[in-house]
Amino acid sequence: MLREKDTTIKYMFRETNDITPEIVRELGLEAILFDLDNTTVKDATLSTIPGAISWIKSLKEAGIKVAIVTNTPHIRAYWFSKTFGVKFHAFAKKPLPFGILRMSRKLGVEVSKIGMVGDQVFTDVAAANRCGAVPLLVDPVENKWFWKNHYKKNRIKEKPIRDAFLKEYGYYGDK
Ligand SMILES: [Mg+2]
Repeated sequence: MLREKDTTIKYMFRETNDITPEIVRELGLEAILFDLDNTTVKDATLSTIPGAISWIKSLKEAGIKVAIVTNTPHIRAYWFSKTFGVKFHAFAKKPLPFGILRMSRKLGVEVSKIGMVGDQVFTDVAAANRCGAVPLLVDPVENKWFWKNHYKKNRIKEKPIRDAFLKEYGYYGDK
């Protein structure tokens, strides 16, 4: 049963590297699905964000299942799936939850044991909440020039939600 659009943040991290295998276990998760743009790769490029490859490697080595769930088109997602050495689901249309649900079946991990890592409240967090996965929100790594254009509206809309969460709970492990 799908829930209504729910932008409730559960956990926040400054960057993906802060989501260590120990924390993934601590949260009771068995798989990590991750977003591409501004989370693990530079927006609209074929370049990864420094540290992303080693972060994914560390999760895999700890026996955590890892895969991409992205709104990006198939060809670009395919490229990064090769770079990161993980499965992928492209054109996921987050906040729709079907990419997460499909990957849950593919990986054989119950959806409640899946953490969805992403930088956007209205897509990544909402998609996770809609199907009962655990949203793990990171600060966006983004190009200042791009921020001014492409993401501005969403960033302004999500800012009060992020700020309220940080005021109350802080980043994971800080309080
Ligand atoms: Mg993103």
